[in-house]
Amino acid sequence: MTARTPLIAGNWKMYKTEAEAEEYIQALLPRVSTVQGTEVAICVPFTDVKAMADSARGSPVLVYAQTMHERPEGPFTGEVSAPMLAEAGAQGVLLGHSERRQLFGESDDALALKVPAALRSGLTPVLCVGETERERDGGETEGKLRRQMGDDLAGVGEERLAEIVIAYEPIWAIGTGRVATPEQAQETIAFIRSLLRERDEGAAERVRILYGGSVKPDNAAELLALADVDGALVGGASLQADSFAQIVGATAR
Ligand code: PEP
Repeated sequence: MTARTPLIAGNWKMYKTEAEAEEYIQALLPRVSTVQGTEVAICVPFTDVKAMADSARGSPVLVYAQTMHERPEGPFTGEVSAPMLAEAGAQGVLLGHSERRQLFGESDDALALKVPAALRSGLTPVLCVGETERERDGGETEGKLRRQMGDDLAGVGEERLAEIVIAYEPIWAIGTGRVATPEQAQETIAFIRSLLRERDEGAAERVRILYGGSVKPDNAAELLALADVDGALVGGASLQADSFAQIVGATAR
């Protein structure tokens, strides 16, 4: 089986000014300086990308953005494109986070263009997928995931599939303190990998699939030890350097 490098990605959402981001990175860097064999990324607000990329250069910490527009440029007031993010120093971008889908109307049609656009600019796309509580209770989880994975990855050729990161985030577990049980996380992530295998057997083994939803220092080790879980997308617990560093430290396999 292909060894996949674990990825721990923090999602700051709309928190931290540039000054706060700088204070955070100075606190985080010594705590993760000896990390080996794990990638660490922080998804920051647009205004923090350049300063964070400058401060993190040469360290194990990668700087990602939280969304982007699908076009490289154009009359889209308020939007930011993949080439702009890449030039500012971002190395990846979250796409399809449930907050973007629910609150800002990010659609599967747009995501089908955004994922390849991110790749074209050299950004690692972290595509978020997941079901609501109602969908899970109604037995619709697999159908929802099949649709999101099919629609959102429609524009990615097999040759670039392995560069995508998938974040499985059950929406009912985001910011709620409720975590998927290890069985739920393992079973659902194994299902997502089976969907990737339908596309391409070889690439499917190389795609990293993260779990996201109320990951904290006290539950990270158990989730990260699961066979198909290649890392975590961490919201609230990434806002303090100390708790985020503890989660990074829980990746030892
Ligand atoms: C997220 O924002 O993607 C997330 C998983 O948040 P939290 O860890 O706070 O549930």
